[in-house]
Amino acid sequence: MSTPTNALTAVQIAAGVRSGQLKAVDVLEQHLARIDTREGEIHAFNLVLADQARAAAAAIDAAVAAGNDPGPLAGVPVALKDNMCTHGVPTTCSSKILDGWKPPYDATVVSRLNAAGAVTVGKTNLDEFAMGSSTENSAFGPTRNPHDITRVPGGSSGGSAAAVAAGFASVSLGSDTGGSIRQPAALCGVVGVKPTYGYVSRYGLVAFASSLDQIGPFTNTVQDSALLLDVIGGHDPMDSTSIPAAQPSLMAALDQGVEGLRVGRITDLPEGADPDVVERLEAAFDALRAAGATIVDVQVPAFSYGLTAYYLIAPAEASSNLARYDGVRYGLRVNAADTNAMYGVTRAAGFGEEVKRRIMLGTYALSAGYYDAYYGKALKVRRMIADDFDRAYQQADVLLTPTSPTVAFPFGAKGDNPFAMYLCDVYTIPTNLAGHPGMSVPFGTGAGGLPVGVQILAGTLGEPQMFRAGAALERAMGAAK
Ligand code: GLN
Repeated sequence: MSTPTNALTAVQIAAGVRSGQLKAVDVLEQHLARIDTREGEIHAFNLVLADQARAAAAAIDAAVAAGNDPGPLAGVPVALKDNMCTHGVPTTCSSKILDGWKPPYDATVVSRLNAAGAVTVGKTNLDEFAMGSSTENSAFGPTRNPHDITRVPGGSSGGSAAAVAAGFASVSLGSDTGGSIRQPAALCGVVGVKPTYGYVSRYGLVAFASSLDQIGPFTNTVQDSALLLDVIGGHDPMDSTSIPAAQPSLMAALDQGVEGLRVGRITDLPEGADPDVVERLEAAFDALRAAGATIVDVQVPAFSYGLTAYYLIAPAEASSNLARYDGVRYGLRVNAADTNAMYGVTRAAGFGEEVKRRIMLGTYALSAGYYDAYYGKALKVRRMIADDFDRAYQQADVLLTPTSPTVAFPFGAKGDNPFAMYLCDVYTIPTNLAGHPGMSVPFGTGAGGLPVGVQILAGTLGEPQMFRAGAALERAMGAAK
């Protein structure tokens, strides 16, 4: 084979495997070889599933040889964030508290990937229970950025972003509660998409903040993300928050271009993005204008309250969701004199520092005397944010912002200051509170030659417009190369 399959897109791999021109086993071996070479320094994975993947790839090739079609992701190597349940395969959330736990079922996204012919190569590292923006909060050690191993890959889905950036997997899945797909995608120079809340089933995704969590793809191209979402999206009766209607194909939307598309610039966006990031954002506006879009000014006044509201709502939901890890039903148990003491010592030993901080914040926000003042108030702010966005989307089809205020930062740079870490998500969080979709598309480089991502936001089920804008930015970058 002349072209290494790491250099092919998922769309190309699937087409090659389905037509018999590529063997799924060869595609897989090339990705496993990359893992052998670089995983030691990157640490994208909690678990590499080489044997299971080899068997799956061989089965795909056998299906093709027998004249069957293995599906739209035939032979595509995929990596899964380790907070998605895989039947009989450890699912750790990068926490000691789930030590030894093997889910008795597959998440819906996992079943859909398997049914489409994808080959799972491993489970990727994350900030413990997806709480963080650097993957430094993993109980198993940090993941390193493939572009510069002295820097973080972003988080919490840092392992999934790094796996695609390093060529360990063609595509991967992450989860995004406040930015955990888009921010690491930006820092690792790949495409990352958080769909509309309810677009992708959360069945089998270990819950962090249930009203905000969404699963989405990391890919090298916008088209590959469209393909992934066409496969994993759509109604699932196992998730009561799943949108009941069928979704239009995003692959089909890509060809439509951006002629006449209204692209909004938020004039009251919170400040704080570095100059190199702002410069790339301006270049993105220019590129979309040149491609035929109209740039319009909009205001989203409540945008700047997003971070504050999020750090009440997300910890509140987390404190409730994480109550189930009590040493009785899952994973770790540290024995003690009686049951109550056992709960305490198990949770003390099993949870890391950031997770404990969130549990305490959330418990406080929900406590009897403070519920209305904190949690109740945050819910009202959440409504204001959604309303402000809705008004902006009467004037614009999509909005453009930075994804992350900075390029990838060095390890330890924000370690002793939780608030500095929380600020990484100042541009991504409001979207989750509104339930809207967002994506990050690589758009050149900034300080130190490190990748910069531009964020495209859209209203509820605005994925087709968002993908059209993303594809246009990608084309502009291709032309600029
Ligand atoms: N960094 C944010 C947090 O720590 C968002 C995480 C996420 O999206 N899972 O909560």
